[in-house]
Amino acid sequence: MRATRAEDYPEPMAHAARAVRLAGALCRKIQFDLQRGEKVSKSDDSPVTVADFAAQAVVSCVLAESCPAIGLVAEENASDMRQPSGAVLRARVTEVVNETLRDVLGRALSEGEVMDAIDRGMSDGGKTGSFWILDPIDGTKGFINGRQYAIALALMEDGEVTGGVLGCPNMPSDTIPRGATEIPTSSPGCIFIAYRGCGTTVGALDAREPLHEGVKVTTERVVDSSEATYMESWGDSIVADHGFTNSLSAAMGMTSPPVRIDSMAKYGALARGDTNMYLRFPPASYREKVWDHAAGAIVVQEAGGVITDGVGNPLDFSNGRFLDIDIGIVATSTPALHATLLETIAKVR
Ligand code: AMP
Ligand code: MG
Repeated sequence: MRATRAEDYPEPMAHAARAVRLAGALCRKIQFDLQRGEKVSKSDDSPVTVADFAAQAVVSCVLAESCPAIGLVAEENASDMRQPSGAVLRARVTEVVNETLRDVLGRALSEGEVMDAIDRGMSDGGKTGSFWILDPIDGTKGFINGRQYAIALALMEDGEVTGGVLGCPNMPSDTIPRGATEIPTSSPGCIFIAYRGCGTTVGALDAREPLHEGVKVTTERVVDSSEATYMESWGDSIVADHGFTNSLSAAMGMTSPPVRIDSMAKYGALARGDTNMYLRFPPASYREKVWDHAAGAIVVQEAGGVITDGVGNPLDFSNGRFLDIDIGIVATSTPALHATLLETIAKVR
């Protein structure tokens, strides 16, 4: 591994990394409070809902100020929060955003400004121009249960994902040991940064200059597919099909158990060579969203990995907010492993 050359990255990537670091600090603080209090669901004024909206507002504000010409497609919107019934949540989100941004902006934002920042993410994306794709907290179940989650930000330029930043506030800096079935949480977490042609780096999420301080990573070059290891979602995820992934791994002669990790942290782990595959097979009725994969896709590709749907089609992030896929999404450390995996999927299905 060698230190990356930060001057290779276009300037918006530095702002993207700064925005994700700030949102990560906000999430870490709320998750810490949450772990000491009662367990909550996502549907009310709960801490996870506050963190979700506040993280989106923070990233949106930082990027609107530093890169005003680049639009935003993001998961959340403030429609409900703008209603009278949303007053408590609106005030709390604004308070948390100001705790994070007051020193950065030199002033406090009004509730209206915070709601507008969130709603900047309501655009549809598409095939032309430049825009960010944001998932402010990917892996809500991980966030609630003290496991892994990610702040995921991708840059789209003329229909292609060119840049990605994955902030993983609980991700250990050590590689996942072979045979492990889950990973611990660890501070300060990791930040993965990729830009087309520049490779992928990983560094500490609290680094002042993530672009300068990261080190280059590459995927693991496994020789025989029977030696491969894979990651998947936990069983409480709608996108997990453990029965099918188990059949696939048996058909490929794999002996290592799956590693279960929440969120796009799986893409970071694949990029830095911890395991060889990420397998994801949602039910046919489920529609994948662009923000759940865009940043992870470029992080994996720039580290040498391959990502497609379950029949080998490239992922097309230029068709609005949804991703149309066949069968599932698979990412592997090498093209050879990808070819073997696709053959096995076709056989086992
Ligand atoms: P994972 O952490 O691998 O389970 O993937 C997380 C992403 O999958 C979330 O951001 C959601 O978009 C989606 N997801 C997982 N479980 C569900 C569910 N029960 N309902 C809706 N979306 C889900
Ligand atoms: Mg998500």
